[in-house]
Amino acid sequence: MNFRYKLMQFFSRCYGADRLFYILFGVASVLALSNCFVRAVWLQMVVYTLTAYAIFRFLSHNVSARRKENEFFGKIRMGIKYKMGIRRQRKADYNHVYKKCPRCKAVLRLPRKKGKHTARCPKCKNEFKVYVFKA
Ligand SMILES: [Zn+2]
Repeated sequence: MNFRYKLMQFFSRCYGADRLFYILFGVASVLALSNCFVRAVWLQMVVYTLTAYAIFRFLSHNVSARRKENEFFGKIRMGIKYKMGIRRQRKADYNHVYKKCPRCKAVLRLPRKKGKHTARCPKCKNEFKVYVFKA
């Protein structure tokens, strides 16, 4: 067997690139670029760690473990994306304010009226003060 064949065999069993790989490399690149201006040793160590982890994942032969990591990362990513979507929706809703009930933590959608009001939670019937600063 020649070297080229062995190399091909090695890389054929590697996990390869996935979304987490690209994001790790992207974050490492941005941090490396920002480190040109900051010049911090700890930041350089973070860049090295992220790059090493991305390369380790790329070359790993334990496909199931890497797939699990990618799925876990995907869940976190989708959670963040979902929360960003909710935040964007609430920001676009100019006629209402969103307040959390202090007792049951339910989110209440209240009409946006400037001043001090008393709100009643429909879930736990708790009454609490609400301050709306901008009308
Ligand atoms: Zn409540």
